[in-house]
Order: sequence, then C-alpha cells, then structure tokens
Amino acid sequence: MYMTKEKYKAYETDEIEVRFYAGRCEHAAECVKGLPAVFNVDNRPWIQPERASADEVAEVIERCPSGALQYTRK
Ligand code: SF4
Repeated sequence: MYMTKEKYKAYETDEIEVRFYAGRCEHAAECVKGLPAVFNVDNRPWIQPERASADEVAEVIERCPSGALQYTRK
C-alpha cells in the first residue's frame, strides 16, 4: 500500500497549536471571516494565533468545513 505523509504547517502559542493542511482547504473563508485578526492572508505568516484567545481560535477552527485547519490545546 502506498501512503503519503500529508504536509502541514504549524503555528503555535503557549496554549494552542494550529495546523494547516493546505491541500484540504476549500477556501470557504470561515476562518478569515470568523477571526480576521488571526487568519489573514495579507499577513506573514497568514495564521497568527497569538492575536486572539485560544478559545476563540479553537471555536473558529471548528467551523472549518474541510479539515484543513486543526488544533491541539496544550
Ligand atoms: S475555513 Fe478551512 S476550508 Fe475555509 S478557508 Fe479556512 S482553512 Fe480553508
């Protein structure tokens, strides 16, 4: 069986790790509409989880319809 290791990028604070699986993103924009301070494609990096509470970041990530955004609370 051929398996690929799916690539992601991680962005973290002391309280939460956010992972972004770019290949899954459906550009539904739930993230950028839900929390524009954190998820903003004009920023580098485009995800800056320190700009909101871990609770707010987690809540918006749960709205992502594709599974492109995932998180782990620390
Ligand atoms: S909410 Fe998920 S699918 Fe939509 S743009 Fe953000 S990461 Fe992509």
